[in-house]
Amino acid sequence: MRKLVAAGNWKMNTDLKSAAALAEALAQKVQQESSIEVVLCPPFPYLTTVKEKISGSSIKLGAQNCYHEAEGAFTGETSVGMLQDTGCDWVILGHSERRHVMGETDEDINKKVVAALDKGLGVILCVGELLEERQADKTNDVLETQMKGGLQGISAEGLKNVIIAYEPVWAIGTGVTATTEEAESAHDFLRKWLSTNYNADAAESMQILYGGSVKPDNAADLMSQPNVDGALVGGASLKADSFGGIIDAAIQVSKG
Ligand code: PEP
Repeated sequence: MRKLVAAGNWKMNTDLKSAAALAEALAQKVQQESSIEVVLCPPFPYLTTVKEKISGSSIKLGAQNCYHEAEGAFTGETSVGMLQDTGCDWVILGHSERRHVMGETDEDINKKVVAALDKGLGVILCVGELLEERQADKTNDVLETQMKGGLQGISAEGLKNVIIAYEPVWAIGTGVTATTEEAESAHDFLRKWLSTNYNADAAESMQILYGGSVKPDNAADLMSQPNVDGALVGGASLKADSFGGIIDAAIQVSKG
């Protein structure tokens, strides 16, 4: 049975004070809840503060990016080991803003995936198509390319520390959410891809999250789809009440 995940991607938002307050409020809400998994991904400078605030709760810490090299002359980059030092269990890789704003390729992303998994850091690997790709009926081709590229060289064993996030780019930060049918169809494709390219067990046990304008009022419907195992949330993860509403939806769906 796959546990539902509610992961908050704070992007380049919050300041020290608001990050601490948000983490504290969510830790108080979640406490030791174990029916779902909650992950907070604040900006790098606030990782240690957020870690302190969530300690004692079941919430896990994640980062929004990393570099594939372990150390050296890579000004401005952050290694996997550094993230682990701050208490991270997860790192988001391949987010559409990294792909489309920073120009990361599947090859770049794959190097990071390999580096993270090698050191035991869990990876939330984001995949998703642009609007024009969906309109040209290319969604599955894009997903296939990004899955193949991002997971190059990763074994079925390595996959146990990976979560996939399907994030259609046209739904991210736009207020336009994929319909439950659109989300389920993409998730079903991804699970079948995992089954074909790995094996049925790996595909069955892997969590596939939906991301793209998830809100408290659409979270339960999305997470009730057979192949949707939770949500990666941007904007609505920045307020304790809205992310709290998404957490409540996940708990409610997971408890049936
Ligand atoms: C995201 O950035 O991963 C995301 C899904 O953003 P939003 O929820 O704001 O659409």
